[in-house]
Amino acid sequence: MVKTKLFKTAYLWTAAMGWWDTGADPLMPSDFRLGIAPNKHVAHPDAKRLAHELIEVTGLLEHVERLPIRPAREEHVLLVHDAKYVDRVKRESNETGGDCGDGVSPFGLGAYDLALKGVGASLQLLESVVSGKVQNGYALVHPAGHHAEPDRGRGFCMFNNGAIAAEYARKKLGLKKVAIVDLDVHHGNGAEKIFWERNDVLTISIHQDRCFPPDRGFASSRGAGKGFGYNFNIPLPPGSGTDAYLYALKTLVQPALRRYKPDIIIVPSGLDANIMDPLARQSVTADGFALITREMMNVANEVTKGRLVYLQEGGYSPQYTPICIHRIIETLANVTTLAEDPYGYIINTQYGQELEPWQRAAVDALKPHVKDI
Ligand SMILES: [Zn+2]
Repeated sequence: MVKTKLFKTAYLWTAAMGWWDTGADPLMPSDFRLGIAPNKHVAHPDAKRLAHELIEVTGLLEHVERLPIRPAREEHVLLVHDAKYVDRVKRESNETGGDCGDGVSPFGLGAYDLALKGVGASLQLLESVVSGKVQNGYALVHPAGHHAEPDRGRGFCMFNNGAIAAEYARKKLGLKKVAIVDLDVHHGNGAEKIFWERNDVLTISIHQDRCFPPDRGFASSRGAGKGFGYNFNIPLPPGSGTDAYLYALKTLVQPALRRYKPDIIIVPSGLDANIMDPLARQSVTADGFALITREMMNVANEVTKGRLVYLQEGGYSPQYTPICIHRIIETLANVTTLAEDPYGYIINTQYGQELEPWQRAAVDALKPHVKDI
């Protein structure tokens, strides 16, 4: 009799994600006269594509359930986005290409169809976890989603995969309470805005203080009406390493989740808090991301029967982002296929992972916010 192997962890990726066309770099357009050489856009999908290749090369792919990707439908996107915005990006995607909304988030022809694959992958992973087919999983989607707001994309994001998944869990799958724990180094402004007055979706964002968007993500932004207290921002000082993240998780995030008792935890998984990222100034290592993931799994085991949905967000170092993603998926699947961090001999020997007094103080100051959940 042939035994079918049961996997704990699902994984989703398609080569099409690596085809997202970011065009020339609008952040720093090349100009011979100014001495600016042509560059790839910083949000080019290379880092994600290389992450998938690493997962295949090390054999990690054999330890996860690879789910095929069905594109989402427009009605799914409309769960959180305005029809006017969706119509615009669909039209521009069909005719000329365009920009998600802030001038630095370009997309090419056919991008709308590609974005539906990312949303679809997010929803498929969610359904597989909710149905119990797998306990957790990682959707390596591109583009990212967590900066997208109802009426516009920004920050390299078109549609808010995590927020759509949370709303889908509530409205289509009948879950009562959903928690979003955004670990991207930049603020999760999209989910904050979408669920600002709601208490059925707890939105937590750990991010670098005043990084992006620079005018959002303050600890004092806590939601409104019955949603007051259910938007929990945790801005960490620049320079925070693994220990500061672990301290914030144990002191604030885990107690918050224990009080809230969500049915599922969605993690917008940005790796741009890593020490080699060009778009932030934190110093988490790949092994640090494994420890952070372990803590998320520990609290998920307590409150959601281990149900965790990781959706790819930022991460802009083509060299190091793949190592971080790989470590997270290894941790979720409870296997090791990459013996050690290949950059560890440079990174793990540097000072910068320890919890500093000012980082502890920033976290401790937010302890009272847990009680309002
Ligand atoms: Zn980011």
